[in-house]
Amino acid sequence: MLRTTLLYLSEQKQINAFVRRNALARRGASRFVAGETLDEAAAAVRVLNAKKISASLDLLGESVTNAAEARAAASAIVDIFDRIATDKLDCNVSVKLTQLGFDLGDDLVRENVRRILDHAKRLGIFLRIDMEGSALTQRTLDLFERELFPAYGRDIVGIVVQSYLFRTASDVDRLIAAGARVRLCKGAYKEPATVAFPAKADVDRTFAELMEKLVERGPYPGIATHDEALIERAKRFVQSKGIPLDRFEFQMLNGVRRDLQERLVQEGYRLRVYVPFGTQWYPYFMRRLAERPANIAFIVGSVLKEGVR
Ligand SMILES: Cc1cc2nc3c(=O)[nH]c(=O)nc-3n(C[C@H](O)[C@H](O)[C@H](O)COP(=O)(O)OP(=O)(O)OC[C@H]3O[C@@H](n4cnc5c(N)ncnc54)[C@H](O)[C@@H]3O)c2cc1C
Repeated sequence: MLRTTLLYLSEQKQINAFVRRNALARRGASRFVAGETLDEAAAAVRVLNAKKISASLDLLGESVTNAAEARAAASAIVDIFDRIATDKLDCNVSVKLTQLGFDLGDDLVRENVRRILDHAKRLGIFLRIDMEGSALTQRTLDLFERELFPAYGRDIVGIVVQSYLFRTASDVDRLIAAGARVRLCKGAYKEPATVAFPAKADVDRTFAELMEKLVERGPYPGIATHDEALIERAKRFVQSKGIPLDRFEFQMLNGVRRDLQERLVQEGYRLRVYVPFGTQWYPYFMRRLAERPANIAFIVGSVLKEGVR
């Protein structure tokens, strides 16, 4: 119930404007978001890199409402690639297609994403296309599988799949057969029972099955979860199959389970942390609270503690 309410609130633009001006909310969000500027984000990546953790930078912003905004987002993302190259960061970039104008038509998003990928290719830096709500899954996969992946290849562009969707098992088979690089996650959006498993046990079971397939047969998959049981299962699986640890990476979100992140690196696993930044942090922050409503108490508690210091 609380999860549904938080996900609903994450989509409310009026609340977004209000919350962004609220100092307490900004401090709460800073647990997950690296800051509002590229300088702050690059500094956060350097801290991770010093701990042997790779990163993926994500300029926050989704569902733009006009072409100028979409083109401005594409320009800002091109700048991220330049910063990664100049600062020699161990980092790639993640993007949501709605930020590049997906809701406004295929031509606009194609123009923007190709502009970014042309630049990515020149610099040899990878772009991950995040997966959004299920209304966009087919269009996202079509654009990726028919145009972007054939044109740029797996070292430059990859995709995300979500284990909560019924369709994902067959998507994964197809993506492995094509040789695409896949990030596997559970899925963060509010989805109807017609397309997604309502029970968490089914989402987790599907994740485990797809993880094993990807780690065994997919090119350098990203296993994106903080679920310790699934991470332990992945470790046992690669051990039993003798799969080298450099054939895949675990991925986690900035500010979530830092203890587990550091432990994995100490154990010799590859880890990439997703580092969001930018002024449009509200929907992202609300999705993180929805995943673990206990975070609300945690964040209020830490903000209050800092306040009385
Ligand atoms: C690198 C990365 C990229 C992602 N990209 C996408 C994407 O493109 N599209 C998409 O739909 N989703 C994406 N997600 C989000 C993902 O779908 C889940 O919503 C999110 O990862 C939580 O699921 P979980 O696998 O950690 O498992 P859960 O079962 O939700 O959580 C397992 C445990 O992890 C910890 N945990 C999980 N979330 C939090 C949190 N917010 N705060 C504190 N602890 C937490 C808790 O200990 C919890 O018990 C991404 C996640 C990661 C890590």
